[in-house]
Amino acid sequence: MHQITIDLASDTKTKPTSEMRQAIATAEVGDEQAGEDPTVNRLTKKVCELLGKEAAIFLPSGTMCNQIAWRVWLTPGDEIIMDKSAHTFNFETGGPSALSGASINTIHGRYGIFTLDDVKKIVRTPSNYFPRSRAILIEQTSNLGGGSVWPLEKIQSISDYAKSEGLIMHMDGARLFNACVVANISAQTYAQHFDSLWIDFSKGLGAPVGAALAGSEEFIKKAWRWKHQFGGAMRQAGIIAAGALYGLNNHIDRLTEDHINAKTFAKGLSKYSEITVDPVETNIIFFDVGGLNLTAQEFDQKLMKFGARCTPMGNSRVRAVTHLDVSAEQIEEVLGIIDQIVSNSNT
Ligand SMILES: *Cc1c(COP(=O)(O)O)cnc(C)c1O
Repeated sequence: MHQITIDLASDTKTKPTSEMRQAIATAEVGDEQAGEDPTVNRLTKKVCELLGKEAAIFLPSGTMCNQIAWRVWLTPGDEIIMDKSAHTFNFETGGPSALSGASINTIHGRYGIFTLDDVKKIVRTPSNYFPRSRAILIEQTSNLGGGSVWPLEKIQSISDYAKSEGLIMHMDGARLFNACVVANISAQTYAQHFDSLWIDFSKGLGAPVGAALAGSEEFIKKAWRWKHQFGGAMRQAGIIAAGALYGLNNHIDRLTEDHINAKTFAKGLSKYSEITVDPVETNIIFFDVGGLNLTAQEFDQKLMKFGARCTPMGNSRVRAVTHLDVSAEQIEEVLGIIDQIVSNSNT
């Protein structure tokens, strides 16, 4: 195992800053599952304010936020509509079917984003034969879509339709704030189009653990029951909530730096005819190294020899993610490393 000093594998790789560790060390705590942890309560209150929702619940992970939302909204046999790239479809071990009896109907969108027409084409009419279309999932930003940002108008048109058809709107907002700073649209403005949504503290916000799910009082009351059943009710969780709160208070605006670094990185890569780079909007860069006659795995192994890494995603596709622990200087450094890899592949 090589020592990795430039870690572009994911924005989950951040370590708490010393200021965040200070906030964690001095956090007031209590019994979370009894509602007695003051730091958790402060965090959920702040989440409600930011998202303009009545209630919120603190959970160990974004995955649990999705799974609890499905459990609240669905009865077995119901169907969720989402893009085929969705995290809850690909990376949650079949949770929606295992835990909520859900089937999933996928849309083949563009960079993870689909249109009202796409939705209308696959929503099922009520029938004794069909699964019941029940919810629509939107992932803001789209992870496998390359950090693409859902335009507000698209969300609004789908949400208006969902309301008229009695469909639930749920947002996987793992990277909602990345969208907010790029589009200069508040989290609340996006959130008003959703019945439920969640944000992750362990991605761009740089906290070690945690996510929060928000919605109406009634929704969150039901969510509490499944939090217990799924084993997500905690005790002195203020220890981790303090990191999350610190991230919310201090690390939203700085996401712009990650976006600048991502653009610089993509621009550097696009100089090579052997590498093709997908459009970059936020902090995720997808590129293809097939032109170097390397697999994604081989490319990443070469990077690792120099103390850097990305994530191989398929045969020759690579994903890089910028975050709190990657500086502008390190982006220049990794571009220098890639320059050597490209030169060597040509000799
Ligand atoms: C990371 C991620 C999740 C899951 O969040 P965890 O906190 O890792 O469980 C869900 N959706 C998207 C889009 C993600 O990027």
